[in-house]
Amino acid sequence: MDKKVIIVGGGPAGLFSAYLLLKAGFAVDLFDHSSGLAKKFLIAGNGGLNLTHSEDVDTFSKRYGKDEVLFLRLLKEFSPQDLRNWLNDIGTETFVGSSGRVFPVEMSAGKVLIQWTELLKSYEGFNLYLKHRLVAINSDKVLTFEKEGTDPFTTQADFVILALGGASWRKTGSDGLWKDLLENQGVLVKDFLPMNCGFEVSWSDYFKEKIDRAPIKHVEIHFQGKSAKGDLMLTPYGIEGGLVYALSSLIRDHFLQEGSAQIEIDLLPALSKETIIERLKKKNKKTSLSNFLRKSLKLDQHTFTLVKEVVRNLDEPKVIAASLKRLQINVSGIRPIDEAISTSGGVCFTQLTDSFEFKEIQGLYAVGEMLDYEAPTGGYLLQGCFSSAFVACQDIEKKQNLS
Ligand SMILES: Cc1cc2nc3c(=O)[nH]c(=O)nc-3n(C[C@H](O)[C@H](O)[C@H](O)COP(=O)(O)OP(=O)(O)OC[C@H]3O[C@@H](n4cnc5c(N)ncnc54)[C@H](O)[C@@H]3O)c2cc1C
Repeated sequence: MDKKVIIVGGGPAGLFSAYLLLKAGFAVDLFDHSSGLAKKFLIAGNGGLNLTHSEDVDTFSKRYGKDEVLFLRLLKEFSPQDLRNWLNDIGTETFVGSSGRVFPVEMSAGKVLIQWTELLKSYEGFNLYLKHRLVAINSDKVLTFEKEGTDPFTTQADFVILALGGASWRKTGSDGLWKDLLENQGVLVKDFLPMNCGFEVSWSDYFKEKIDRAPIKHVEIHFQGKSAKGDLMLTPYGIEGGLVYALSSLIRDHFLQEGSAQIEIDLLPALSKETIIERLKKKNKKTSLSNFLRKSLKLDQHTFTLVKEVVRNLDEPKVIAASLKRLQINVSGIRPIDEAISTSGGVCFTQLTDSFEFKEIQGLYAVGEMLDYEAPTGGYLLQGCFSSAFVACQDIEKKQNLS
Protein backbone atom coordinates (compact mmCIF):
# COMPACT_ATOMS: atom_id res chain seq x y z
CA MET A 1 0.00 0.00 0.00
CA ASP A 2 2.58 2.53 -1.09
CA LYS A 3 0.28 4.87 -3.01
CA LYS A 4 -2.47 7.11 -1.75
CA VAL A 5 -5.47 8.33 -3.72
CA ILE A 6 -7.58 11.27 -2.58
CA ILE A 7 -11.25 11.10 -3.49
CA VAL A 8 -13.45 14.15 -3.00
CA GLY A 9 -17.18 13.42 -2.94
CA GLY A 10 -18.81 10.53 -1.11
CA GLY A 11 -21.75 9.80 -3.42
CA PRO A 12 -22.04 6.58 -5.45
CA ALA A 13 -19.26 7.58 -7.89
CA GLY A 14 -16.79 8.44 -5.09
CA LEU A 15 -17.68 5.44 -2.94
CA PHE A 16 -17.37 2.98 -5.80
CA SER A 17 -14.01 4.51 -6.74
CA ALA A 18 -12.89 4.11 -3.11
CA TYR A 19 -13.85 0.44 -3.13
CA LEU A 20 -12.07 -0.33 -6.41
CA LEU A 21 -8.86 1.42 -5.35
CA LEU A 22 -8.75 -0.07 -1.85
CA LYS A 23 -9.22 -3.49 -3.42
CA ALA A 24 -6.35 -2.73 -5.77
CA GLY A 25 -4.09 -2.00 -2.79
CA PHE A 26 -4.18 1.82 -2.65
CA ALA A 27 -4.70 3.81 0.51
CA VAL A 28 -7.74 6.09 0.10
CA ASP A 29 -8.54 9.39 1.80
CA LEU A 30 -12.19 10.24 1.12
CA PHE A 31 -13.39 13.79 1.76
CA ASP A 32 -16.96 15.09 1.70
CA HIS A 33 -18.36 18.38 2.98
CA SER A 34 -21.60 16.76 4.14
CA SER A 35 -22.19 15.33 7.59
CA GLY A 36 -22.95 11.92 6.03
CA LEU A 37 -22.20 9.91 2.92
CA ALA A 38 -24.29 9.54 -0.25
CA LYS A 39 -27.22 11.69 0.84
CA LYS A 40 -28.59 11.95 -2.71
CA PHE A 41 -28.37 8.17 -3.11
CA LEU A 42 -30.45 7.84 0.06
CA ILE A 43 -33.03 10.27 -1.34
CA ALA A 44 -33.08 8.26 -4.59
CA GLY A 45 -33.99 5.27 -2.45
CA ASN A 46 -37.28 6.90 -1.46
CA GLY A 47 -38.55 6.34 -4.99
CA GLY A 48 -37.50 2.67 -5.10
CA LEU A 49 -33.74 2.97 -5.88
CA ASN A 50 -33.58 2.05 -9.52
CA LEU A 51 -29.91 0.97 -9.72
CA THR A 52 -29.62 0.23 -13.40
CA HIS A 53 -31.54 -1.30 -16.31
CA SER A 54 -31.45 -4.82 -17.74
CA GLU A 55 -31.55 -3.86 -21.43
CA ASP A 56 -28.59 -4.72 -23.69
CA VAL A 57 -25.74 -2.21 -23.79
CA ASP A 58 -26.49 -1.08 -27.36
CA THR A 59 -29.99 0.00 -26.36
CA PHE A 60 -28.74 1.26 -23.00
CA SER A 61 -26.10 3.52 -24.55
CA LYS A 62 -28.75 5.28 -26.69
CA ARG A 63 -30.23 6.76 -23.50
CA TYR A 64 -27.23 9.09 -23.27
CA GLY A 65 -28.18 11.00 -26.45
CA LYS A 66 -25.20 12.92 -27.84
CA ASP A 67 -22.82 10.81 -25.74
CA GLU A 68 -24.09 7.43 -26.97
CA VAL A 69 -20.76 6.31 -28.45
CA LEU A 70 -18.80 7.29 -25.36
CA PHE A 71 -21.23 5.44 -23.11
CA LEU A 72 -21.26 2.35 -25.30
CA ARG A 73 -17.51 2.12 -24.64
CA LEU A 74 -18.01 2.70 -20.89
CA LEU A 75 -20.82 0.16 -20.66
CA LYS A 76 -18.68 -2.42 -22.37
CA GLU A 77 -15.98 -1.79 -19.74
CA PHE A 78 -18.40 -1.95 -16.82
CA SER A 79 -21.86 -3.15 -17.83
CA PRO A 80 -25.20 -3.18 -15.98
CA GLN A 81 -24.60 -6.91 -15.40
CA ASP A 82 -21.14 -6.14 -13.93
CA LEU A 83 -22.85 -3.72 -11.57
CA ARG A 84 -25.37 -6.36 -10.53
CA ASN A 85 -22.57 -8.91 -9.99
CA TRP A 86 -20.63 -6.47 -7.86
CA LEU A 87 -23.68 -5.57 -5.77
CA ASN A 88 -24.36 -9.25 -5.30
CA ASP A 89 -20.74 -9.77 -4.16
CA ILE A 90 -21.11 -7.11 -1.47
CA GLY A 91 -24.38 -8.63 -0.27
CA THR A 92 -26.96 -6.60 -2.21
CA GLU A 93 -29.14 -8.94 -4.22
CA THR A 94 -31.00 -7.30 -7.11
CA PHE A 95 -34.00 -8.15 -9.26
CA VAL A 96 -35.37 -7.03 -12.61
CA GLY A 97 -38.79 -5.38 -12.37
CA SER A 98 -41.53 -5.74 -14.99
CA SER A 99 -40.26 -2.63 -16.81
CA GLY A 100 -36.74 -4.07 -17.09
CA ARG A 101 -35.45 -1.75 -14.37
CA VAL A 102 -33.13 -3.21 -11.73
CA PHE A 103 -33.79 -2.72 -8.00
CA PRO A 104 -32.29 -4.08 -4.78
CA VAL A 105 -34.38 -6.97 -3.40
CA GLU A 106 -34.56 -5.30 0.01
CA MET A 107 -35.58 -1.99 -1.62
CA SER A 108 -33.56 0.02 0.88
CA ALA A 109 -30.86 2.49 -0.11
CA GLY A 110 -29.93 2.75 3.58
CA LYS A 111 -29.08 -0.96 3.78
CA VAL A 112 -27.06 -0.87 0.56
CA LEU A 113 -25.14 2.12 1.90
CA ILE A 114 -24.42 0.44 5.24
CA GLN A 115 -23.07 -2.68 3.49
CA TRP A 116 -20.96 -0.51 1.26
CA THR A 117 -19.44 1.69 3.97
CA GLU A 118 -18.80 -1.27 6.27
CA LEU A 119 -16.84 -2.83 3.45
CA LEU A 120 -14.77 0.33 2.93
CA LYS A 121 -14.10 0.66 6.64
CA SER A 122 -12.80 -2.92 6.73
CA TYR A 123 -9.77 -1.74 4.75
CA GLU A 124 -6.89 -0.46 6.87
CA GLY A 125 -5.96 2.14 4.29
CA PHE A 126 -9.37 3.85 4.28
CA ASN A 127 -9.70 7.26 5.93
CA LEU A 128 -12.96 9.19 5.90
CA TYR A 129 -13.11 12.96 6.41
CA LEU A 130 -16.67 14.26 6.61
CA LYS A 131 -17.58 17.98 6.90
CA HIS A 132 -14.48 18.84 4.86
CA ARG A 133 -15.19 21.20 2.00
CA LEU A 134 -12.89 21.41 -1.00
CA VAL A 135 -12.36 25.15 -1.53
CA ALA A 136 -9.42 25.27 -3.92
CA ILE A 137 -7.38 23.11 -6.23
CA ASN A 138 -4.27 24.02 -8.21
CA SER A 139 -2.51 22.66 -11.25
CA ASP A 140 -0.21 20.51 -9.05
CA LYS A 141 -3.28 18.84 -7.51
CA VAL A 142 -2.78 20.61 -4.20
CA LEU A 143 -6.21 20.57 -2.59
CA THR A 144 -7.34 23.05 0.05
CA PHE A 145 -10.05 21.96 2.48
CA GLU A 146 -12.03 23.87 5.05
CA LYS A 147 -13.64 22.39 8.12
CA GLU A 148 -15.76 24.50 10.44
CA GLY A 149 -13.83 25.63 13.48
CA THR A 150 -10.38 24.77 12.09
CA ASP A 151 -7.88 26.49 9.81
CA PRO A 152 -7.94 25.58 6.12
CA PHE A 153 -5.30 22.98 5.26
CA THR A 154 -3.79 21.57 2.10
CA THR A 155 -3.13 18.02 1.04
CA GLN A 156 -1.83 16.29 -2.06
CA ALA A 157 -1.55 12.88 -3.70
CA ASP A 158 -0.32 11.40 -6.98
CA PHE A 159 -3.89 10.58 -7.92
CA VAL A 160 -7.02 12.58 -7.10
CA ILE A 161 -10.57 11.70 -8.09
CA LEU A 162 -13.26 14.38 -8.02
CA ALA A 163 -16.76 12.92 -7.68
CA LEU A 164 -18.58 16.10 -6.69
CA GLY A 165 -21.99 15.44 -8.26
CA GLY A 166 -24.37 17.75 -10.12
CA ALA A 167 -26.24 20.83 -8.95
CA SER A 168 -29.68 19.75 -7.74
CA TRP A 169 -30.95 18.91 -4.26
CA ARG A 170 -28.42 21.18 -2.53
CA LYS A 171 -29.42 19.82 0.87
CA THR A 172 -27.75 16.52 -0.13
CA GLY A 173 -24.42 18.33 -0.58
CA SER A 174 -24.52 18.41 -4.40
CA ASP A 175 -24.40 22.18 -4.75
CA GLY A 176 -22.38 22.51 -7.96
CA LEU A 177 -20.23 25.23 -6.37
CA TRP A 178 -17.12 23.29 -7.41
CA LYS A 179 -17.66 24.73 -10.92
CA ASP A 180 -15.72 27.92 -10.00
CA LEU A 181 -12.79 25.93 -8.57
CA LEU A 182 -12.24 24.14 -11.86
CA GLU A 183 -12.93 27.18 -14.02
CA ASN A 184 -10.20 28.99 -12.05
CA GLN A 185 -7.84 26.35 -13.44
CA GLY A 186 -9.02 27.00 -17.00
CA VAL A 187 -11.24 23.92 -17.16
CA LEU A 188 -14.30 24.20 -19.40
CA VAL A 189 -17.42 23.50 -17.35
CA LYS A 190 -20.81 23.73 -19.04
CA ASP A 191 -23.53 25.61 -17.14
CA PHE A 192 -25.92 23.39 -15.21
CA LEU A 193 -29.49 22.96 -16.34
CA PRO A 194 -32.32 20.98 -14.75
CA MET A 195 -32.79 17.50 -16.20
CA ASN A 196 -35.54 15.02 -15.34
CA CYS A 197 -37.48 18.01 -14.11
CA GLY A 198 -41.06 19.22 -13.87
CA PHE A 199 -42.65 22.08 -15.82
CA GLU A 200 -44.96 24.93 -14.93
CA VAL A 201 -48.42 25.39 -16.44
CA SER A 202 -50.63 28.39 -15.73
CA TRP A 203 -53.65 26.50 -14.42
CA SER A 204 -56.76 28.38 -13.32
CA ASP A 205 -57.25 28.91 -9.57
CA TYR A 206 -60.25 26.56 -9.73
CA PHE A 207 -58.12 23.78 -11.22
CA LYS A 208 -55.27 24.28 -8.72
CA GLU A 209 -57.65 23.91 -5.82
CA LYS A 210 -59.56 20.99 -7.28
CA ILE A 211 -56.55 18.94 -8.38
CA ASP A 212 -53.91 19.58 -5.68
CA ARG A 213 -51.72 16.57 -6.68
CA ALA A 214 -53.30 13.93 -8.90
CA PRO A 215 -51.83 11.18 -11.06
CA ILE A 216 -52.99 10.70 -14.64
CA LYS A 217 -52.22 7.11 -15.54
CA HIS A 218 -51.37 5.22 -18.74
CA VAL A 219 -51.17 8.17 -21.08
CA GLU A 220 -48.79 9.11 -23.88
CA ILE A 221 -47.14 12.49 -24.33
CA HIS A 222 -45.89 13.86 -27.62
CA PHE A 223 -43.38 16.62 -28.15
CA GLN A 224 -41.57 17.59 -31.34
CA GLY A 225 -41.96 14.16 -32.93
CA LYS A 226 -40.91 12.24 -29.79
CA SER A 227 -43.28 10.41 -27.48
CA ALA A 228 -43.29 8.54 -24.18
CA LYS A 229 -45.86 6.40 -22.39
CA GLY A 230 -46.52 6.22 -18.67
CA ASP A 231 -47.99 8.24 -15.80
CA LEU A 232 -47.83 11.94 -15.15
CA MET A 233 -48.58 13.95 -12.05
CA LEU A 234 -50.74 17.07 -12.06
CA THR A 235 -49.70 19.60 -9.43
CA PRO A 236 -50.93 23.10 -8.59
CA TYR A 237 -47.89 24.52 -10.37
CA GLY A 238 -47.83 22.25 -13.43
CA ILE A 239 -46.78 18.74 -14.42
CA GLU A 240 -44.27 16.26 -12.99
CA GLY A 241 -43.51 12.55 -13.12
CA GLY A 242 -41.50 9.95 -15.01
CA LEU A 243 -43.37 10.53 -18.23
CA VAL A 244 -42.55 14.24 -18.27
CA TYR A 245 -38.94 13.58 -17.21
CA ALA A 246 -38.50 11.26 -20.19
CA LEU A 247 -38.91 14.19 -22.60
CA SER A 248 -37.67 16.88 -20.22
CA SER A 249 -34.43 17.77 -22.00
CA LEU A 250 -36.29 18.32 -25.30
CA ILE A 251 -39.04 20.37 -23.66
CA ARG A 252 -36.49 22.34 -21.60
CA ASP A 253 -34.27 23.20 -24.57
CA HIS A 254 -37.24 24.21 -26.70
CA PHE A 255 -38.66 26.37 -23.92
CA LEU A 256 -35.30 28.06 -23.31
CA GLN A 257 -34.91 28.81 -27.00
CA GLU A 258 -38.45 29.80 -27.93
CA GLY A 259 -39.92 30.96 -24.62
CA SER A 260 -42.78 28.51 -25.05
CA ALA A 261 -43.44 24.80 -25.49
CA GLN A 262 -46.64 22.92 -26.22
CA ILE A 263 -46.98 19.32 -25.09
CA GLU A 264 -49.69 17.05 -26.48
CA ILE A 265 -51.19 14.34 -24.33
CA ASP A 266 -52.99 11.27 -25.63
CA LEU A 267 -55.26 10.46 -22.70
CA LEU A 268 -56.57 7.25 -24.27
CA PRO A 269 -53.63 5.74 -26.20
CA ALA A 270 -55.37 2.35 -26.47
CA LEU A 271 -58.33 3.77 -28.44
CA SER A 272 -58.41 5.36 -31.87
CA LYS A 273 -60.11 8.71 -32.43
CA GLU A 274 -62.73 6.95 -34.59
CA THR A 275 -63.58 4.45 -31.84
CA ILE A 276 -63.97 7.30 -29.35
CA ILE A 277 -66.28 9.20 -31.74
CA GLU A 278 -68.41 6.06 -32.28
CA ARG A 279 -68.80 5.60 -28.52
CA LEU A 280 -69.58 9.27 -27.97
CA LYS A 281 -72.40 9.10 -30.51
CA LYS A 282 -74.19 6.65 -28.21
CA LYS A 283 -74.45 9.22 -25.41
CA ASN A 284 -78.03 10.25 -24.64
CA LYS A 285 -78.97 13.72 -23.50
CA LYS A 286 -79.88 12.68 -19.94
CA THR A 287 -76.41 11.37 -19.06
CA SER A 288 -73.81 13.95 -18.05
CA LEU A 289 -70.62 14.00 -20.14
CA SER A 290 -68.40 13.20 -17.14
CA ASN A 291 -70.52 10.16 -16.24
CA PHE A 292 -70.64 8.99 -19.82
CA LEU A 293 -66.87 9.30 -20.28
CA ARG A 294 -66.28 7.51 -16.99
CA LYS A 295 -68.55 4.60 -17.93
CA SER A 296 -67.94 4.21 -21.65
CA LEU A 297 -64.27 5.27 -21.87
CA LYS A 298 -63.11 4.61 -18.27
CA LEU A 299 -61.96 8.22 -17.96
CA ASP A 300 -61.40 9.14 -14.31
CA GLN A 301 -62.55 12.37 -12.69
CA HIS A 302 -59.08 14.01 -12.60
CA THR A 303 -58.57 13.39 -16.28
CA PHE A 304 -61.99 14.84 -17.07
CA THR A 305 -61.19 17.91 -14.94
CA LEU A 306 -57.95 18.32 -16.88
CA VAL A 307 -59.75 18.15 -20.24
CA LYS A 308 -62.32 20.70 -19.04
CA GLU A 309 -59.53 22.99 -17.84
CA VAL A 310 -57.93 23.03 -21.29
CA VAL A 311 -60.96 22.79 -23.61
CA ARG A 312 -63.94 24.87 -22.56
CA ASN A 313 -66.53 23.82 -25.20
CA LEU A 314 -66.86 20.08 -24.98
CA ASP A 315 -70.04 19.48 -26.96
CA GLU A 316 -69.23 17.97 -30.36
CA PRO A 317 -68.09 14.29 -30.34
CA LYS A 318 -65.30 15.23 -32.79
CA VAL A 319 -64.00 17.99 -30.50
CA ILE A 320 -64.16 15.74 -27.44
CA ALA A 321 -62.36 12.88 -29.25
CA ALA A 322 -59.68 15.24 -30.59
CA SER A 323 -59.14 16.67 -27.08
CA LEU A 324 -58.83 13.21 -25.55
CA LYS A 325 -56.34 12.12 -28.19
CA ARG A 326 -54.26 15.31 -28.37
CA LEU A 327 -54.80 17.54 -25.36
CA GLN A 328 -52.56 20.57 -25.82
CA ILE A 329 -50.81 21.85 -22.71
CA ASN A 330 -48.77 25.06 -22.83
CA VAL A 331 -45.67 25.06 -20.65
CA SER A 332 -45.14 28.40 -18.91
CA GLY A 333 -41.86 27.65 -17.14
CA ILE A 334 -39.26 25.12 -16.01
CA ARG A 335 -39.24 24.09 -12.36
CA PRO A 336 -36.19 25.25 -10.32
CA ILE A 337 -32.94 23.32 -10.78
CA ASP A 338 -32.81 22.40 -7.10
CA GLU A 339 -35.92 20.22 -7.52
CA ALA A 340 -34.59 18.33 -10.54
CA ILE A 341 -33.67 14.65 -10.24
CA SER A 342 -30.44 15.35 -12.11
CA THR A 343 -28.62 18.12 -13.93
CA SER A 344 -27.07 18.41 -17.32
CA GLY A 345 -23.88 20.43 -17.67
CA GLY A 346 -20.63 19.92 -15.80
CA VAL A 347 -17.07 19.10 -16.85
CA CYS A 348 -16.95 18.92 -20.67
CA PHE A 349 -15.62 15.68 -22.09
CA THR A 350 -13.24 17.68 -24.30
CA GLN A 351 -11.27 18.49 -21.13
CA LEU A 352 -10.69 14.85 -20.31
CA THR A 353 -8.94 11.80 -21.71
CA ASP A 354 -10.93 8.64 -22.47
CA SER A 355 -10.23 7.63 -18.85
CA PHE A 356 -11.60 10.89 -17.40
CA GLU A 357 -8.20 12.28 -16.47
CA PHE A 358 -7.92 16.04 -16.98
CA LYS A 359 -5.78 16.62 -20.07
CA GLU A 360 -4.08 19.61 -18.44
CA ILE A 361 -3.69 18.23 -14.90
CA GLN A 362 -2.12 14.79 -14.83
CA GLY A 363 -3.37 12.46 -12.12
CA LEU A 364 -6.62 14.42 -11.59
CA TYR A 365 -9.86 12.67 -12.61
CA ALA A 366 -13.57 13.56 -12.65
CA VAL A 367 -16.32 10.92 -12.48
CA GLY A 368 -20.07 10.63 -11.97
CA GLU A 369 -22.75 13.26 -12.36
CA MET A 370 -20.25 16.13 -12.36
CA LEU A 371 -19.50 15.15 -15.98
CA ASP A 372 -21.50 16.84 -18.72
CA TYR A 373 -23.89 14.08 -19.68
CA GLU A 374 -27.61 13.63 -19.33
CA ALA A 375 -29.86 10.60 -19.27
CA PRO A 376 -33.45 9.87 -18.34
CA THR A 377 -34.45 8.14 -15.13
CA GLY A 378 -34.46 4.33 -15.28
CA GLY A 379 -31.11 3.53 -13.65
CA TYR A 380 -29.11 5.29 -16.37
CA LEU A 381 -27.84 8.01 -14.04
CA LEU A 382 -26.36 5.68 -11.44
CA GLN A 383 -24.96 3.31 -14.07
CA GLY A 384 -23.17 6.32 -15.59
CA CYS A 385 -21.58 7.04 -12.20
CA PHE A 386 -20.41 3.45 -11.68
CA SER A 387 -19.11 2.95 -15.22
CA SER A 388 -17.19 6.24 -15.31
CA ALA A 389 -15.67 5.54 -11.87
CA PHE A 390 -14.63 2.06 -13.02
CA VAL A 391 -12.82 3.38 -16.10
CA ALA A 392 -10.97 6.08 -14.12
CA CYS A 393 -9.87 3.59 -11.45
CA GLN A 394 -8.64 1.11 -14.07
CA ASP A 395 -6.49 3.88 -15.49
CA ILE A 396 -5.03 4.75 -12.09
CA GLU A 397 -4.21 1.08 -11.48
CA LYS A 398 -2.58 0.79 -14.88
CA LYS A 399 -0.48 3.93 -14.30
CA GLN A 400 0.58 2.70 -10.87
CA ASN A 401 1.63 -0.67 -12.29
CA LEU A 402 3.72 1.06 -14.93
CA SER A 403 5.53 3.36 -12.48
C1 LIG B 1 -35.06 12.36 -5.94
C2 LIG B 1 -33.97 11.65 -6.72
C3 LIG B 1 -34.22 10.36 -7.16
C4 LIG B 1 -33.24 9.70 -7.92
N1 LIG B 1 -33.47 8.43 -8.33
C5 LIG B 1 -32.56 7.78 -9.08
C6 LIG B 1 -32.77 6.45 -9.49
O1 LIG B 1 -33.76 5.81 -9.09
N2 LIG B 1 -31.85 5.87 -10.32
C7 LIG B 1 -30.73 6.54 -10.75
O2 LIG B 1 -29.96 5.99 -11.54
N3 LIG B 1 -30.46 7.79 -10.29
C8 LIG B 1 -31.35 8.42 -9.49
N4 LIG B 1 -31.09 9.69 -9.04
C9 LIG B 1 -29.82 10.33 -9.43
C10 LIG B 1 -28.62 9.80 -8.64
O3 LIG B 1 -28.91 9.83 -7.26
C11 LIG B 1 -27.39 10.66 -8.94
O4 LIG B 1 -27.15 10.63 -10.34
C12 LIG B 1 -26.15 10.17 -8.20
O5 LIG B 1 -26.32 10.29 -6.80
C13 LIG B 1 -24.91 10.95 -8.61
O6 LIG B 1 -23.83 10.38 -7.94
P1 LIG B 1 -22.44 11.15 -7.77
O7 LIG B 1 -21.62 10.30 -6.88
O8 LIG B 1 -21.91 11.51 -9.10
O9 LIG B 1 -22.82 12.52 -7.06
P2 LIG B 1 -23.63 12.81 -5.71
O10 LIG B 1 -24.41 11.65 -5.29
O11 LIG B 1 -24.33 14.08 -5.96
O12 LIG B 1 -22.46 13.01 -4.65
C14 LIG B 1 -21.57 14.12 -4.70
C15 LIG B 1 -20.93 14.26 -3.34
O13 LIG B 1 -19.95 15.30 -3.43
C16 LIG B 1 -20.00 16.08 -2.24
N5 LIG B 1 -19.45 17.42 -2.55
C17 LIG B 1 -19.90 18.32 -3.45
N6 LIG B 1 -19.15 19.42 -3.44
C18 LIG B 1 -18.17 19.22 -2.52
C19 LIG B 1 -17.05 20.01 -2.05
N7 LIG B 1 -16.77 21.22 -2.56
N8 LIG B 1 -16.24 19.47 -1.10
C20 LIG B 1 -16.48 18.22 -0.57
N9 LIG B 1 -17.53 17.45 -0.96
C21 LIG B 1 -18.35 17.94 -1.94
C22 LIG B 1 -21.46 16.09 -1.87
O14 LIG B 1 -21.67 16.37 -0.49
C23 LIG B 1 -21.91 14.68 -2.25
O15 LIG B 1 -21.81 13.77 -1.16
C24 LIG B 1 -32.01 10.35 -8.24
C25 LIG B 1 -31.77 11.65 -7.77
C26 LIG B 1 -32.75 12.29 -7.00
C27 LIG B 1 -32.48 13.68 -6.49
